[in-house]
Amino acid sequence: MMNSGMVTAAYIIAAVLFILSLAGLSKQETARRGNQAGIAGMAIAVLATIIGDGVQSYGVLLVMVGIGGAIGAYLARRVEMTEMPELVAILHSFVGLAAVLVGFASYLTPEAHHVGTERTIHDVEIYLGILIGALTFTGSVIAFGKLSGKVGSKPLILPGRHMINLGIGVVCLVLLFLFIGQAPEAGAVETGKGWGTFILVVMTLLAFAFGVHMVMAIGGADMPVVISMLNSYSGWAAAATGFMLSNDLLIVVGALVGSSGAILSYIMCRAMNRKFFSVIMGGWGDASPSSGDGGSDEPQGEAVAITADEVAALCKDSESVVIVPGYGMAVAHAQHPVSELTTQLKKAGINVRFAIHPVAGRMPGHMNVLLAEANVPYDLVLEMDEINEDLSDTDVVIVIGANDIVNPSALDNPNSPIAGMPVLEVWNAKTVIVSKRSMATGYAGVENPLFFKENTRMLFGDAKESVNGILTNL
Ligand code: NDP
Repeated sequence: MMNSGMVTAAYIIAAVLFILSLAGLSKQETARRGNQAGIAGMAIAVLATIIGDGVQSYGVLLVMVGIGGAIGAYLARRVEMTEMPELVAILHSFVGLAAVLVGFASYLTPEAHHVGTERTIHDVEIYLGILIGALTFTGSVIAFGKLSGKVGSKPLILPGRHMINLGIGVVCLVLLFLFIGQAPEAGAVETGKGWGTFILVVMTLLAFAFGVHMVMAIGGADMPVVISMLNSYSGWAAAATGFMLSNDLLIVVGALVGSSGAILSYIMCRAMNRKFFSVIMGGWGDASPSSGDGGSDEPQGEAVAITADEVAALCKDSESVVIVPGYGMAVAHAQHPVSELTTQLKKAGINVRFAIHPVAGRMPGHMNVLLAEANVPYDLVLEMDEINEDLSDTDVVIVIGANDIVNPSALDNPNSPIAGMPVLEVWNAKTVIVSKRSMATGYAGVENPLFFKENTRMLFGDAKESVNGILTNL
């Protein structure tokens, strides 16, 4: 058994490790170290909690840790890189559900009842913890459904949806004031007011409905922001749980997750030229249409196909090549041949670089992780802002399984669902090669006029096979 001083010391060490972890994760070069700091921090936190004096029944605890650990290990081994966002979404839902359950348990445990101001504060903590947890839970389940294709990615627009949201918000606020000071059961305790549990249940159902409605109204192209926003909410739900349980580490960790998720959402909104508030309210106050509900870009002209040996010949004759990876590269597991292609082209004296769009793939940093896994040198991997201007001086751009992030209608069609989103302006290069299997649309479901431009050639087929084909012919 650790005494409370030792537990506090362990918690402080864990908190410092979590901060180091976040700092490490902000750069590719230090991301591995960041991850290790996070793992160490979490191991210390779990151990200190288990051997601290708050645990009464080790039997139940160990069984639960065993079951949870086994499910986690199984999922982590099985999940594909392309399925990571779904996994992240469903894990957020667990945090939300845990906050709801802990909230109810905390309210219904008689010894946890405080008096006076302390009681009011405790009631507010419980109420907010359950509220944020409940909407994080259902919102994350819907996000999971949308990302895994089980729920359509088009936004569900109910008539008067903003009034519905506002109405739920106002009712929840009124219920908060009614809830404070209520005893859990009828006829109980000091005030004689026994509506507490009933009010909590009504609020929880409203928050569940709010979570569903909020995420259903958000279209495909805005999903990245929703994921990081739900990440932030799950942090605030954990922090509220920390207040309920008087657990300092949970408060710190929840605040770290909550604020880093909020900052990430803000950065992503900036990358997509969207207003955060407008995204989370499913297009509220936004002049440009919300994403995913169609567009007027009819295909113009004809797409011209090219073969792998022609691409190889083009590359050999060029001085500079830029590779734009997208979701299709992840699906095809093409990162290793792409890395090999980079090596070959560099050997031939060609200047090869990568252009990474902030929302390429299905989660922030998706492409960076894949390229790092395939040992592509970090200094060849450039962010959109660093390379967009150079594209006009580039001989060949090879787009590998990307679509929305290279769509010119984001810039020149104000009616497009992705209007205003900054994109990689690959069409400014001398020649653009697009490697994909068909003329199908990308995640946002919009046509891409890039495929019909004069300097674009379509390399049809699975990205891995196509890149291998180029390699064979180099
Ligand atoms: P897109 O979804 O726009 O396009 C991917 C393309 O890859 C498809 O058009 C598909 O065409 C092609 N493809 C699929 N499988 C293969 C394969 N095996 N070989 C070759 N090509 C393949 O992806 P982008 O990366 O360009 O854009 C990301 C999109 O995802 C954006 O709309 C973004 O908003 C959204 N999003 C991003 C998130 C993030 O955080 N990064 C999270 C959630 C959504 P075809 O079927 O013809 O092969």
